[in-house]
Amino acid sequence: MAARKPSARKPTAKKCPACKGSGEVAVSVRVGRKRRVAGQQTGLCLGCLGTGEAATD
Ligand SMILES: [Zn+2]
Repeated sequence: MAARKPSARKPTAKKCPACKGSGEVAVSVRVGRKRRVAGQQTGLCLGCLGTGEAATD
């Protein structure tokens, strides 16, 4: 009686489309009253809250 090998775990979590699974997104940094864009920095993805996984609905 052959023992059944545990099947390879398939990734059930989908990648977050907003950050493509990285959990981070580039956000613009604005400074001054004119809200000039000073650059971009990496921020926490609000779509998945940094987990990189799409929320299940
Ligand atoms: Zn995300």
